Amino acid sequence: MAENRLSGLPKMDLLLARGELAGCALPYSLVRRAARQALEEARQVLLADPEARAPGAGHLAGRALELAQAMARPGLRRVVNATGVPLHTNLGRAPLSPRAAEAALQAAGYCNLEYDLDRGTRGSRTGRVEDLLRTLTGAEEAFVVNNNAAAVLLMLSVLTPGLGVAISRGELVEIGGAFRVPDIMARSGARLVEVGTTNKTRLGDYAAALDTGAAQALLKVHPSNFKVVGFTQAAALAELGVLARERQVPLLCDLGSGALAAGPFPGEPAVEEAVHWADVVCFSGDKLLGGPQAGILLGRGAAVRRLKRDPLARALRLDKLSLAALEATLMDWRDGVLPPAAAMLGAEGEHLRKMAEVLAARLAPLCPGGRACQAVESPGEAGGGSMPGVSLPGWAVALTPAEELERFFRGWETPVIGRIHRGRLLLDVRTLLPGDGDIIAAALAQWKGETP
Ligand SMILES: *Cc1c(COP(=O)(O)O)cnc(C)c1O
Repeated sequence: MAENRLSGLPKMDLLLARGELAGCALPYSLVRRAARQALEEARQVLLADPEARAPGAGHLAGRALELAQAMARPGLRRVVNATGVPLHTNLGRAPLSPRAAEAALQAAGYCNLEYDLDRGTRGSRTGRVEDLLRTLTGAEEAFVVNNNAAAVLLMLSVLTPGLGVAISRGELVEIGGAFRVPDIMARSGARLVEVGTTNKTRLGDYAAALDTGAAQALLKVHPSNFKVVGFTQAAALAELGVLARERQVPLLCDLGSGALAAGPFPGEPAVEEAVHWADVVCFSGDKLLGGPQAGILLGRGAAVRRLKRDPLARALRLDKLSLAALEATLMDWRDGVLPPAAAMLGAEGEHLRKMAEVLAARLAPLCPGGRACQAVESPGEAGGGSMPGVSLPGWAVALTPAEELERFFRGWETPVIGRIHRGRLLLDVRTLLPGDGDIIAAALAQWKGETP
């Protein structure tokens, strides 16, 4: 019986010869793969359901075309971030400024990556960003690598191999994607010397580790994505700096987020302050700095020059697109222009409320009869392990029905990613970029057209 119904399915050749598929501009190999998949789907339905009838060739060709179009689209796509989390790791962390995006585009062809245009000789790959970093932070020397995880690995591998490195128990953190400080330390050849307790570590705990000979270096890690609240104590970087100078041991600091003092980042240790006390400081390029993925290393001349000379530096080097975007991001900071993520983090509640009201008024006529569309208060967070425990005053447009709309928006040409809260879909305005309102409105208009 099932055999009969299966034989009712059109043959592959017939399907491929139909106008929908034969006439489409997609590569033949892709269309064939899609047609095979459409047939296989239909076969599975027939096998699973004895009542089901074989779909016609027209229907199958339509489905195959849909599959082929989906296969032809790039997998990595632009989305609208309506989550309100500016440094959303799943959505690519910091959005580049127009200047940084343009710089990356310009560098995509040939560029003077390692060529000195004045002298016509080989030039420094990272010199331009190093100059900017020194000017911005007051560091003696600077260097950049692929990301902050690489920066931590390089710093420990080169400066403390075989040494005991004292670190507070409260700072042995895991930062998303299985980046664990103890694991990186083990890989670098440094020996982990835990001091203090999870909630309390005093300066004396570090001093004792140096006194007993267990440790010969100090490491401070900014515990990015959590905050221990209540009965806590941690030694300040300044205290550790004084101790390290007294005992003549290196003090290394993984700042994680890298907040420049000029940014609106309450509760974050400033890069400039860390540079003053530590021998080497490292942080991410795509967190609070608001640039491309990169690992920034700043510090004293001799220590940073050792990092640059190490063979590992070559394996961890930054590519030309990121270098170009990083240089432009640093130029933004130099010129007093906040990169988009920093501007979003500093946005005032009143400004966000107005944005949400304007968007809600625009979307309301596009909501099918009687469905809610309202500006609501919605507290946000920085994301990306930055500013943990800091709640930002935020505003969103709340829509219903939450689940169906969430799926529809996610499947839109330019997917719109919001967040469901208490039965409503919240589109947070903090993280919207210019033009995103048009995309949301176009999607909603289509939804209204399809919804009875
Ligand atoms: C985010 C973070 C890292 C990892 O940085 P990437 O740039 O993502 O590699 C390392 N250490 C700390 C403290 C962080 O917050």
